[in-house]
Amino acid sequence: MAEMLRTEDLCYSYILPGDEAEEVQALQNVNFSVKKGEFIAILGHNGSGKSTLARHINALLCPTKGTLWVEGLDSRQPENTWNIRQKAGMIFQNPDNQMVASIIEEDVAFGPENLGIPSEEIRRRVQEALRTVEMEEYAKGSPAKLSGGQKQRIAIAGILAMQTDCIVLDEPTAMLDPSGRREIMDTVLRLNREKQITVIHITHYMEEAILADRILVVDHGRLVMEGTPRDVFVQVEKVRELGLDVPPMTELAWRLRRQGYKIRPDILTVEEMVEALCQLR
Ligand code: ADP
Ligand code: MG
Repeated sequence: MAEMLRTEDLCYSYILPGDEAEEVQALQNVNFSVKKGEFIAILGHNGSGKSTLARHINALLCPTKGTLWVEGLDSRQPENTWNIRQKAGMIFQNPDNQMVASIIEEDVAFGPENLGIPSEEIRRRVQEALRTVEMEEYAKGSPAKLSGGQKQRIAIAGILAMQTDCIVLDEPTAMLDPSGRREIMDTVLRLNREKQITVIHITHYMEEAILADRILVVDHGRLVMEGTPRDVFVQVEKVRELGLDVPPMTELAWRLRRQGYKIRPDILTVEEMVEALCQLR
């Protein structure tokens, strides 16, 4: 499979203003790669560097040391910035900060308009993007009346209309209720499975992380764990030491094992737990 992203010793420092010009090392020697079509979840407690990493992927930030390539384009080269932004789009936490127009279809059209795409083609793309996020019937409406989940879906449609290969979502569900969270995860999974869009999904919710092909865990600016959800969460104690939870069913399996029950340690879902418990009898 072709490569979407790759980093080599990616480092990033913020310089705090003031006489001392203090430096905050937000990312230190981060190495990873992502293939096209992968669904990656990024986990880490607050301040671990997740957003800083996300902002590198569409060249909002560039490494202070080391390199990040987006489809082979080195993000430190200024002439690549524009191209990189067309390959990777960002969705942020607050759905209200991402709306730019007062009519939904104009909002979705904003990105492709900036790319200078002909209006006939924009109309087609906007329609298709709204269909993909199942918001077609809202095209002429105002974003103001939408729920948080619907607003995030409109923001996702805006990225789709630019036809980026990769979408980076920085805690897109953090401000949503459970049904909004489900809407977003259903949408993101569909984009990944049906349109082969590479997904980088930053989240605090373990039930979202288990949907990924692979999880990256960051801690104090370093990449500290990497693997399938099963490989990562089976390491219950290590995950906890990093200030993170494990999925509820993995936790239950861990507790049952401590009580002496012979149950597999790498359970992620309720279905798997039911199956394992049935086998105990
Ligand atoms: P996360 O998204 O995992 O919570 P961030 O990437 O936002 O982490 O932050 C990583 C580190 O960089 C933290 O120590 C944070 O305080 C610092 N940081 C983030 N943004 C800035 C900024 N604009 N200026 C200075 N320091 C920052
Ligand atoms: Mg963040």
